[in-house]
Amino acid sequence: MKCSLCDERAVIKVAYVGVHLCERHFSSYFEQRFLETIRLLQMVERGERVAVAVSGGKDSLTLLYLLSKYSDALGVEVVAVLVDEGIRGYREEKAKAAEDYARRWGVELVVKSFREEFGFTLDEAASALMSDGLRYKPCTVCGVLRRYLLNRAALELGADKLATAHNLDDEAQAFLMNAVQANLPSIAREGPRSEVVHEKLVPRIKPLYFIPEKEVLTYALLHGIESPQVECPYIVYSLRHRLRRWLNGIAERDPSVKHRVVALKNLLTPLLEKGGPFRNCRVCGMPSSGEVCKACWFRQYVARLLAERQSASCTTWR
Ligand code: SF4
Repeated sequence: MKCSLCDERAVIKVAYVGVHLCERHFSSYFEQRFLETIRLLQMVERGERVAVAVSGGKDSLTLLYLLSKYSDALGVEVVAVLVDEGIRGYREEKAKAAEDYARRWGVELVVKSFREEFGFTLDEAASALMSDGLRYKPCTVCGVLRRYLLNRAALELGADKLATAHNLDDEAQAFLMNAVQANLPSIAREGPRSEVVHEKLVPRIKPLYFIPEKEVLTYALLHGIESPQVECPYIVYSLRHRLRRWLNGIAERDPSVKHRVVALKNLLTPLLEKGGPFRNCRVCGMPSSGEVCKACWFRQYVARLLAERQSASCTTWR
């Protein structure tokens, strides 16, 4: 199949626009959308410091690549933050990829770990959660603690913005997840950029918000951005994983369905209550919608489960 714009061989079909694009035209189209999203939504200002959340996956590496490539044009300084949750057989490999690419692109990378900050790894937390009947899924705990650490790291780095690599697929899945859980405040809060709502909450930006995952992966492939083919072992417990497969199945016959889901979300957002004002968590002093923030609540909950297991095993040996 030929490119719709020249005689070169097409590398991708952009089905929702109805065109086939070669490597050169696709890369140009992709980068223009990335830059337009940043400029139209005024995601950054000249002179700002942007912390990029990297996981070592293709999406976040692509975001880091693009932000470092265009940092001069955008007038921003880029730093990278990686959270090591402590997931054996998964995180080490992804972290290694993130470190290698950050070094190659000349970006400072800061690593925060669950073990150092919370006193346990996600593997230990997941094992305790399972012995407690999985009242909370590993992804729920992981997501809350990871967001907390990313924000803390961005604050410590003096970042003006925290950039995450959420793409169109992620946003469509997140909306459906919140919809089936009737979580209206989360639907109201999530968007391509967040405002300043608390002095200790670094505003978030999502420059890949309108770009489908398939295009991010194609761009990464064409630019030699590789990520180890390992999957988090806890993904099978997540609702997002099941919704992702379901939505991808529908998108095979209806290529613009994810765009419509995200468009619906963006129509609903202004109509919904965003939730009350933030206050300071009684335990850690960081922003919280309640008296104790979710991160401190989960940290205490997991620590209690681990302590109970420890004491049960001591009793068994007595
Ligand atoms: Fe964390 Fe779940 Fe992602 Fe694994 S799949 S890294 S547990 S959020």
